Amino acid sequence: KIQLADRVRALTPSSTLAITAKAKELKAQGKDVIGLGAGEPDFNTPQHIIEAAVKSMNEGYTKYTPSGGLPELKKAIAAKLKADQGLEYQLNEIIVTSGAKHALYTLFQVLLNDGDEVIIPTPYWVSYPEQVKLAGGNPVYVEGLEQNNFKITPAQLKEKVTEKTKAVIINSPSNPTGMVYSKEELQALGEVCLEKGILIISDEIYEKLIYGEVEHISIAQLSDELKKQTIIINGVSKSHSMTGWRIGYAACDSALIKAMTDLASHSTSNPTTPAQYATIAAYAGPQEEVEKMRSAFLERLEIIHLKLNEIPGISCLKPQGAFYLFPNAKTAATMTGCKDVDEFCNMLLTEANVAVVPGSGFGAPDFMRLSYAISLSQLEEAIRRIHQFVNKRV
Ligand code: PLP
Repeated sequence: KIQLADRVRALTPSSTLAITAKAKELKAQGKDVIGLGAGEPDFNTPQHIIEAAVKSMNEGYTKYTPSGGLPELKKAIAAKLKADQGLEYQLNEIIVTSGAKHALYTLFQVLLNDGDEVIIPTPYWVSYPEQVKLAGGNPVYVEGLEQNNFKITPAQLKEKVTEKTKAVIINSPSNPTGMVYSKEELQALGEVCLEKGILIISDEIYEKLIYGEVEHISIAQLSDELKKQTIIINGVSKSHSMTGWRIGYAACDSALIKAMTDLASHSTSNPTTPAQYATIAAYAGPQEEVEKMRSAFLERLEIIHLKLNEIPGISCLKPQGAFYLFPNAKTAATMTGCKDVDEFCNMLLTEANVAVVPGSGFGAPDFMRLSYAISLSQLEEAIRRIHQFVNKRV
């Protein structure tokens, strides 16, 4: 029997991917399951981006690139950061990675010594704790309370800082809650980070998917001091519907970027070359498709959020970004005779043919996550099924 390394024995597989796999399995058995587990936009990548990749391959750009990414792509990313955030980054302050996920992975590997702590607000994106642990670090959780729109306060953050704290993660707009930190909230959290001397990992992957009056602010925009202490993580997966292309980036201090690039030179060598050319087109080309996708998500959100709240025992704050709803389903679970929301989600899958992700995987066990990255008609049918399931059992 093969003995696995200690570091992977405790690894928990992604709960979001697990539910998607289970839904697929049931579908293969002929069950009419509607999956609300998707973590990716349901639109195809815009055509001009696909064409840029094809063109690059036809022109022979099918070889290795520099480990940290093509200089032309770094330039396009720097231009994007300047245009959208007013932030100036030099090319040696940017690394292109195989998705934002691998930017984070590489970052934790070069940043953490055994026992170093990273503060992670709950509800969190499933990969943060696992990636921190893989790098020898310890995740320290701060509870983003529902009554505070799932956001953490400066006092809560301060309380968790120890001499071992290396960084805090801020994910705005958030997966799974869809909540967005305001400028004032970021300023207040930033002050704690400056005072305590901790880094800020700002995961801005849902930047372009934002609804209503709120705007996306990067904490790095708020002052030069904060910019110095912030690592911006972003990419094209969600903004340009490019999840399968695997391109993300980090922008921060050049010494960190150098270490990350050195590590990349021994791990990935470089992100896929045609995908990098596609990403140049994504950032430098027209942005109409990005807005079109955003409005499609918004239209779904407006309809589905209301319908979800009509279900007895379920209450859902209105998200301001991303493409997830994160309702509290504790009462619904109790009303339907389930011992917890995990069991409720399981029943929804087996009895109502609707796949949703239990909140326990995000560090928030009273909640569940529903993705609205599927067609409106399917969404409406899914909500109708959940409603009917609850009605039948109360
Ligand atoms: N960060 C958050 C909060 C996410 O939800 C995701 C994807 O689900 C990522 C990062 C990683 O995105 P990618 O690796 O596709 O760029």
